[in-house]
Amino acid sequence: MKQYKLWIDGKWTNTSGGKPMDIEDPATGKKIATVVDASATDVDKAAKAAHKAFYDGRWSGLTPSERSKAIWKLADLLEEKTKEFAKWESLNAGKPYKNLSLAGDIPFAIDNIRFFATAARDVHGSRANEYQPGYTSILRREPVGVVGQIAPWNYPLLMAVWKFGPALAAGCTVILKPAPGTPITTLMLAELTKKAGIPDGVINIVTGGNATGQAIVDHPLVRMVSLTGSTGTGKNIMKSASDSLKRVHLELGGKAPLVVFDDVDINVFAAKATFGATCNSGQDCTAATRIIVPKALQKKITEAVVDAMKAVKVGDPFGDKTEMGPLISAIHRERVIGFMDRAKKQGAKILTGGGIPKGLDKGYFFEPTVVTEVKQNFDIVQNEIFGPVLTIQTYDKEEEAVKLANDVNYGLASSIWTKDVARAMRVAKQLEFGTVWVNDHLPLASETPHGGFKQSGFGKDLSIESVGDYLITKHVMVGGV
Ligand code: NAD
Repeated sequence: MKQYKLWIDGKWTNTSGGKPMDIEDPATGKKIATVVDASATDVDKAAKAAHKAFYDGRWSGLTPSERSKAIWKLADLLEEKTKEFAKWESLNAGKPYKNLSLAGDIPFAIDNIRFFATAARDVHGSRANEYQPGYTSILRREPVGVVGQIAPWNYPLLMAVWKFGPALAAGCTVILKPAPGTPITTLMLAELTKKAGIPDGVINIVTGGNATGQAIVDHPLVRMVSLTGSTGTGKNIMKSASDSLKRVHLELGGKAPLVVFDDVDINVFAAKATFGATCNSGQDCTAATRIIVPKALQKKITEAVVDAMKAVKVGDPFGDKTEMGPLISAIHRERVIGFMDRAKKQGAKILTGGGIPKGLDKGYFFEPTVVTEVKQNFDIVQNEIFGPVLTIQTYDKEEEAVKLANDVNYGLASSIWTKDVARAMRVAKQLEFGTVWVNDHLPLASETPHGGFKQSGFGKDLSIESVGDYLITKHVMVGGV
């Protein structure tokens, strides 16, 4: 059984006033670790360590090359331990070990860290010129300072990397809080940061629940708060941060539409839509959720999607062939079942799934599910379910499809399915989502910005844009030139 303290100022630190918190395996409900539910005093200690580390220049004062080298080394150290991290990510978050943690999450986290190591060397400052006669202006891009970073449970290590990677590349120091139930791989990374040569106090990891997060948001030494979480939490954090006018960076929920046109390859679409809806048990802010199809193709597409969803192999995350594990917790599964109950009451029809798979009653498993006969105003269409659930709606004209796609509060990700390039470009322009895929759903790369429109938040994760979000522009104007 793993037992963790808090990682503050480069060492394991006992809590002052916090409580123990049990961590469970969602595939069995069994306890696998104990961590700390940190107190406001712990957060204060971490904030002071991060503040000192920022202002004495032990990190921001290094050359970009030196910072880059340490971040790159962290990626190398993580790579050496890929299997161990993948095992714990699967144990803690219920992810298929072979098909997701080992093949996806951990290698992608390593690639992300290497990208940020490289980005640390592109210092962004530019545009030096004489904009007034006799003066030279220089635009410097400087780190924001101490950043409070709050992560969700769906991709525990990846989300931690998307937070601290760009902040470190920019020269900031951080207090990072993983989600309450999934802190293990983030804590495992702590000692690797030290081995990599990232100085003490630059990354502080404080575990705990929402009150711990709130203490980070409220702390006066924190200059910016970066959250990946639900839209509700984003709103709360933005309100609290307004008291001290902290910068906020919010990666929030999604409700991705898949806008299908009549020239689609139906089998390819059904396979990719199914993967988009069931990868990580649909607990993905960009997950495929709303299929919008031409009326003429409704029957064929529905049949193909139902067949593909039925074929998904659900089960033990450590099974070789498992494609989908459990949902994250009993509470979350209740929430997903609640969506099914309300949809049925409103007149929706569940074509496959909708409940607990037979023989899998130990963990928090839920069947891949397809729902039709839904209206745009139904809860199941408007709100984020965060489970393996696809709805199917129909349209007559292109404008109607775009309207249905855009008619939700979220704006994170979407996809278009057509061979007609002109149509794809026209519709991509009209979709109000931070990502638009054409003929696919979910792929991403370290270089591609990830972030929302509308109530999916603002600021970008990944890409050089995310590093820019942790930098602030200073204008230096030199007279007597
Ligand atoms: P959540 O909002 O419940 O919690 C996210 C984090 O915020 C947790 O660490 C939690 O402890 C903390 N928190 C909650 N209230 C807080 C407060 N008042 N002050 C400070 N911290 C607080 O979200 P979740 O259930 O962990 O994660 C799922 C959500 O995350 C989904 O809505 C999903 O769409 C979203 N998400 C978004 C992205 C993205 O990139 N846009 C990526 C992954 C997940």
